[in-house]
Amino acid sequence: MFEGLSNRLGEVFDRLRKRGALSESDVAEAMREIRVALLEADVALPVVKDFINAVKEKAVGQEVVKSISPGQMVVKIVHDHLVEMLGGTVQTLELRAAAPVVVLMVGLQGSGKTTSTAKIAKRFKDKERKKVLMASLDVARPAAQEQLRILGEQVGVDTLPIIAGQQPVDIAKRALQAARTGVYDVLMLDTAGRLSIDEELMLEVAAVRDATSPAETLLVADAMTGQDAVNTARIFHERVTLTGIVLTRIDGDSRGGAALAMRAVTGQPIKLIGVGEKMDALEDFHPDRIAGRILGMGDVVSLVEKAAEVIDQQEAEKLALKMQKGSFDLDDFLSQIRQLKKMGGMGGIMGLLPGVAKIKKQMAESNIDESIVKRQEAIILSMTKRERKDPKILNAKRRVRIAAGSGTQVSDVNRLIKQFSDMQKMMKQVQSMQKSGALQRMMP
Ligand code: GDP
Ligand code: MG
Repeated sequence: MFEGLSNRLGEVFDRLRKRGALSESDVAEAMREIRVALLEADVALPVVKDFINAVKEKAVGQEVVKSISPGQMVVKIVHDHLVEMLGGTVQTLELRAAAPVVVLMVGLQGSGKTTSTAKIAKRFKDKERKKVLMASLDVARPAAQEQLRILGEQVGVDTLPIIAGQQPVDIAKRALQAARTGVYDVLMLDTAGRLSIDEELMLEVAAVRDATSPAETLLVADAMTGQDAVNTARIFHERVTLTGIVLTRIDGDSRGGAALAMRAVTGQPIKLIGVGEKMDALEDFHPDRIAGRILGMGDVVSLVEKAAEVIDQQEAEKLALKMQKGSFDLDDFLSQIRQLKKMGGMGGIMGLLPGVAKIKKQMAESNIDESIVKRQEAIILSMTKRERKDPKILNAKRRVRIAAGSGTQVSDVNRLIKQFSDMQKMMKQVQSMQKSGALQRMMP
């Protein structure tokens, strides 16, 4: 899978990388080619459009880093957006509910439900040491229940004894009862599919869901069916609320469109992928690895990441110098709090000041929470230029205005100003210690 896409993007990027500088039309042409490559990979048009727009926007406003070429920068931007489009991080199955945790498998006929049910059961048993029970609710096809029983024997997982003539919801209830009595950790429910989505199937799935309250409702979709798989997921999600997707036949020669667009269209993460018919051919879905496989440019990506770190470092050094000179104002404080998270907290910047190892440690330990950073940003942005340069003029009236302007409380404003002046004080101390040479004597 992804060969076509990978080859095309490879060509685009090879050309970009060979150029020293990139003109706007170079980038525009590259974007056009990426667009075509994604469409050829069977990614839905709206998803492609969003992707290209996001990349363009990012590429335009990008600072150019000296040590890397613009072409390399574009590779990195495309890579990051690809990872995002694929869902960001690995999503694991949710097993933290009360036992027996019910996992409901749904999907169209032949998508790989029964096979995936047994694969997942085997994985729970082998990797998580869980006691698993499987039950087939497929009464539509005569041999379906028998198929699951045979797979259960193969992987060493128990299956619910088959009673002929029972309806899906009744089998589900019996399975839940058996899982409770038998003290099973997980109950896997394999359902019937249809050749296409119909009302009867949806009602049946919804009835089973209501009877069993699953922790996971996983849609099994066939990657080979491309955009159809994505549409199937969208409709199932509307009707029965999915918690994730198992994409099967990734080992086939599909063009990759389903894997690429699934998250963007359905909002649901691909949690697992089927990579073959064997019982251990099941893997976690790693967006970064898939993006890496599509682009085949891991070296460029890590190069750009390193270069970006250097920029942060340079910025931090600039701030540190201002601190030492005592010319640090609220604007600098703002750029600093914006950098805090990136640098792994206060420690990053403070570490650059000579002799503040101890303070640095304390500050690194105080957690920086994103919502606090956002609030602090809002407060400083509500100040006038003059106020930022000269915080001494921030009287009560001004503070009330700033709080209102930033949607915060006066106490938040006060806290921020206090923090700032504490930091100034500390800097002065460090400065005078440096001057007197006390610091040199303290440092080993
Ligand atoms: P169901 O109708 O949804 O229950 O589908 P099945 O589980 O019976 O699978 C239908 C066929 O697809 C079987 O022959 C499976 O071996 C095959 N299959 C399922 N998953 C995969 C996969 O990830 N890769 C490949 N190559 N074949 C698969
Ligand atoms: Mg089946």
